Amino acid sequence: MDLYGLIGKSLSHSFSPIYFNNKFKKENITAQYLSLEINTIADFPQLLLAYPELKGLNVTIPYKEQIIPYLDEIDAIAKTIGAVNCIQIKEGKLLGHNTDYYGFKKSLHPFDFNKQDKAIILGTGGAARAVAAVLNSMHIQYFNTSRIKKYDSYFKHIIAYEDLVHIDINAYRLIVNTTPVGMFPNIQDAPDFPYHLLNDKHILYDLIYNPAMTTFLHNGLQMGAIIKNGLEMLELQALKSWKIWQYS
Ligand code: NAP
Repeated sequence: MDLYGLIGKSLSHSFSPIYFNNKFKKENITAQYLSLEINTIADFPQLLLAYPELKGLNVTIPYKEQIIPYLDEIDAIAKTIGAVNCIQIKEGKLLGHNTDYYGFKKSLHPFDFNKQDKAIILGTGGAARAVAAVLNSMHIQYFNTSRIKKYDSYFKHIIAYEDLVHIDINAYRLIVNTTPVGMFPNIQDAPDFPYHLLNDKHILYDLIYNPAMTTFLHNGLQMGAIIKNGLEMLELQALKSWKIWQYS
């Protein structure tokens, strides 16, 4: 039987094993998707030896970056982002991809963005880099915020949240939360954003999917903004992984 799996450190609340095993059942696919917790990335080669039937893997926190030296190849998008969340195992070779990029990109289709639109990305981690790569591909200008003002070779000048009040927030149609702030169980928390400056022209996108209505989205909704959570992106990135494992 073909095996697939998710590698990460703490996987008890993970979406992928449930999503894929339901898919296999519904579509009569003879395969199994496993939760494969490892304590350190150094355990990865041992895991591959223990499961020779593996055809594909997803990778989650904290290994999306650490996995890269263990792979034979990574595609151009994963290389740009510097993070891999999908591994194709083909003829003994490990090929890395980043399907968060595809999931986020496809989830933006209904909004009809154009080159005049601009965005603010809250956060500077791996998910922020995937979001930034999508915005680059759409020629949408953006800047990032962080808990401290800093310079980073990927994002260049990053501003501190406290300086957002000095920005013309009206000039930025899309605001994306790529931080874990507000995620279950800390559902009262929200990024330190000047929500009072929002209106019905803004789109607030939270990569978090649990809870479905984060405090970030709730605050935006109260100001009339359009809101979107991370569930569709999550499903689209999983589907893209499946397409990679099946058809490429
Ligand atoms: P990460 O690297 O751990 O964190 C992202 C960034 O958030 C950090 O670089 C940090 O930026 C900021 N941050 C962390 N803790 C913070 C805090 N207490 N207050 C303010 N900022 C904080 O995580 P990630 O892998 O990029 O993922 C981020 C989020 O996206 C997670 O909630 C994850 O579940 C979600 N995600 C969703 C999908 C989806 O399909 N929907 C896909 C990928 C990720 P600074 O240090 O610069 O402030």
